[in-house]
Amino acid sequence: MSSKRLALKAVLGTAALAGALAVAGQARAAATIIINNINAPGVGFNDPTPATPVGGNTGTTIGEQRLIAFTYAANIWGATLTSDVPIVVNAQFTPLSCTATSGVLGSAGATQIFRDFANAPKPATWYSYALANRIAGSYLGTLNAPQINSNFNSNLGTTGCLEASGWYYGLDSAEGAKIDFVAVLQHEMAHGLGFQTFTSGTSGAQNGGFPAIWDHFLFGTTAGKLWKDMTNAERTASAISVNGLVWTGQAVTDAVPSVLRLGSAAVAISGAGAGSAAGIYAAGDSTLGPPVLAPSVSGQLMPIGEQAAGTGSGCLAYDARNRKAAFGNIVLVDRGVCTFAVKAKNAQNAGAIGVVIANSTTGVLAPGGADPTVTIPVLGITQADGNTLKAALGLRSRAKSGLIASFTLTGTQYSGADPLGRALMYAPNPFQSGSSVSHLDVSMFRNQLMEPAINADLTQSVLPPIDLTYRLFQDIGWEVAPPAPRAKLSR
Ligand SMILES: [Zn+2]
Repeated sequence: MSSKRLALKAVLGTAALAGALAVAGQARAAATIIINNINAPGVGFNDPTPATPVGGNTGTTIGEQRLIAFTYAANIWGATLTSDVPIVVNAQFTPLSCTATSGVLGSAGATQIFRDFANAPKPATWYSYALANRIAGSYLGTLNAPQINSNFNSNLGTTGCLEASGWYYGLDSAEGAKIDFVAVLQHEMAHGLGFQTFTSGTSGAQNGGFPAIWDHFLFGTTAGKLWKDMTNAERTASAISVNGLVWTGQAVTDAVPSVLRLGSAAVAISGAGAGSAAGIYAAGDSTLGPPVLAPSVSGQLMPIGEQAAGTGSGCLAYDARNRKAAFGNIVLVDRGVCTFAVKAKNAQNAGAIGVVIANSTTGVLAPGGADPTVTIPVLGITQADGNTLKAALGLRSRAKSGLIASFTLTGTQYSGADPLGRALMYAPNPFQSGSSVSHLDVSMFRNQLMEPAINADLTQSVLPPIDLTYRLFQDIGWEVAPPAPRAKLSR
């Protein structure tokens, strides 16, 4: 599996000079966002390479398509947020760290931070430039100074840099196996608008001795303290606490029940042939096929027999015997040899109603990948559970196994929240520079725009019931949440 990371750019302190604004695109709505293209002629946002219009993007060069996509993404934020002060975003394509199988897609952050400005809700607290301007109602610092720096990987899709992938510039989220540039733009702009802390996660040190507004809502469950109140040592410990870092802002917490799934995915095994294998097996969600949001398909669990060396993995088009096993049933295949998308598609083509993929290493498998033509649900399980089920399946007949698999949900916790229903923040161990602390946790389901890696199933919405990003902006001061409806007394 490749990893496609959206890194956060650490930006602190230095003033960026305004210079002449090369206004390339402008989103006008509740907030005006001005895109300041800082690429040199002939490259990046100015790349003259001819391109065919795609997915609603009418640009006829690579550079045009990139700017049109940026304007489209800026319009989404511009229509969602309000500000009397235009938001100026520096944007460029530039080489970012990358290998053939993993890489940084983009990075962004505020160009400057401010505290104790007019109307600042919390004293002695850092705010990102754009948010500080919004709250102050006027330009802080140099008039028209860019408030956000953003960078996008110019090498993506070339030899040595996620070469099997590449940017998708369409506006319709139909990126397939490519990377949705609009989603990456939405994500990176959110960092620049304030979705980040300015406190170090590795040393715990606050910037200049002051907390970020982020740190007023970031809570470590081990220390039982907000980040703003912790010692440096407590902050560094909580930054790698895995499930011990949560967001306490009221707007996000109120939205968790409508956005995140209650319970986690599982495969329930029952039936006359199940024997001691009957029970509930923890499962990992897949980006392939429809999400399991409620009890879903149920049917005979069928093993897929070998057709050639290594193909119990379901990587070849099914032969007659395997088609008979799969038709109308749920197939069990092993991880490996080919992509999860190929396994899912082969099963679907043979008439299967669901796919269970057993891991080939430790942990619950969450099968990734993208193929919009997969329409049957897919779940992953552990290698050990796969072995248990295969032993129970034994030498069954080829049309019925006697084991019934049902895709279902288990537990009473929201996927990606702690037991108190607070959103989990990303706190892996070891610390991941550019990702830890300033993202939502990867366990969130449905997947969220502000997870540290981009998922293929994002929809462009930044609002509940799809997404938590706007609610978090409300918590840090971008917007005031609408008052709860009040009952009126009739007189
Ligand atoms: Zn990010």
